[in-house]
Amino acid sequence: MAAALVDGALLPGDVVVQEGVLAGLGLGRGGRGIAAPGLVDLQVNGFAGVDFLRADHAAYRRAGDALLAAGVTAFQPTFVSAPEADLVAALRRVPTEGCGPRVIGAHLEGPFLSPLRLGVHDAASRRAPDLGLVRRLLEAGPVSAMTLAPELPGALELVDELVARGLIVSCGHTDATAAQAHAAFDRGARTVTHLFNAMRPSTPRDPGIAMAALAREDVTVQLIVDGHHLAGETVLVAWRAARGRFALVSDAVAAAGMGDGRFTLGGTQVTAEDGAVRRADGTLAGSAASIIDGVRNLHALGAPLEDALAAASSVPARIAGRTDLGRLAVGAPADVVVLDDRLEVQRVLVAGVAVA
Ligand code: ZN
Repeated sequence: MAAALVDGALLPGDVVVQEGVLAGLGLGRGGRGIAAPGLVDLQVNGFAGVDFLRADHAAYRRAGDALLAAGVTAFQPTFVSAPEADLVAALRRVPTEGCGPRVIGAHLEGPFLSPLRLGVHDAASRRAPDLGLVRRLLEAGPVSAMTLAPELPGALELVDELVARGLIVSCGHTDATAAQAHAAFDRGARTVTHLFNAMRPSTPRDPGIAMAALAREDVTVQLIVDGHHLAGETVLVAWRAARGRFALVSDAVAAAGMGDGRFTLGGTQVTAEDGAVRRADGTLAGSAASIIDGVRNLHALGAPLEDALAAASSVPARIAGRTDLGRLAVGAPADVVVLDDRLEVQRVLVAGVAVA
């Protein structure tokens, strides 16, 4: 490689891998392409025709291969609100290894969400905060993150429980005011799911959770930069306000990597058309883009390449508490994506093994 992204800057020279870890950086004149950390996507509902809520191991493997080809070396399979039995069954099927990319753990997006901000989530599957249900879900499989609406009665007790267990608590699908958001952030919720989408809108004297998150340096924001969920100006304002704590997520669904057509998200029929995925009533239902598309889009909007790549690697890894991932450093796992000048994926390594 001609250069590698190390500690947020491009270091000329090649990288050396030994026994699955990075053994050297910035060596010699290098070859072609840029070595970047393998991408880390915290919100993947599905990929390449696979809907994770209903996926068996073979389906995880198919989606995993396609995620690797798109540069993703670690991810959170993400489940939208669904009946308890469906979530428990899906959690039991989450692979801890053998599907290609590393599985950080499952991201439960719901079911403790605001009835006012459901987006495409099934209203019948939404639940009021319920500690017993949380415990049953955590017992069913390897949950690493939960998105919840912190303003719901009893939600802060869930935050306490999840934080005590070391999970990521992310606020989303929420009607929280700034004050309610601060209360959750003070209890240990340190990130926000798809900032600006499915949350209370900001007005001059009612800034809501989005502005509260941007105003706090201890909160990391996650955004879908697929060209459909947010206007470019909205993305840029968030990036400028939250530089270094701005994470990209794909929110990919089964349509990702498949072109236009009809797919499912949980139990909901969705249609992909011109890159946007919608329910029949027009509500956006996740994305057909992958996180490398988000990197390209953020860079095209004006963010330096180093920042755009960090937003899809070191920043999400930090949210997940996985500081071993998402960075190129001597001694770190050799999870590497090699990109050309157009940010097309050329090669992918997981633990030093070429996988795409
Ligand atoms: Zn969502």
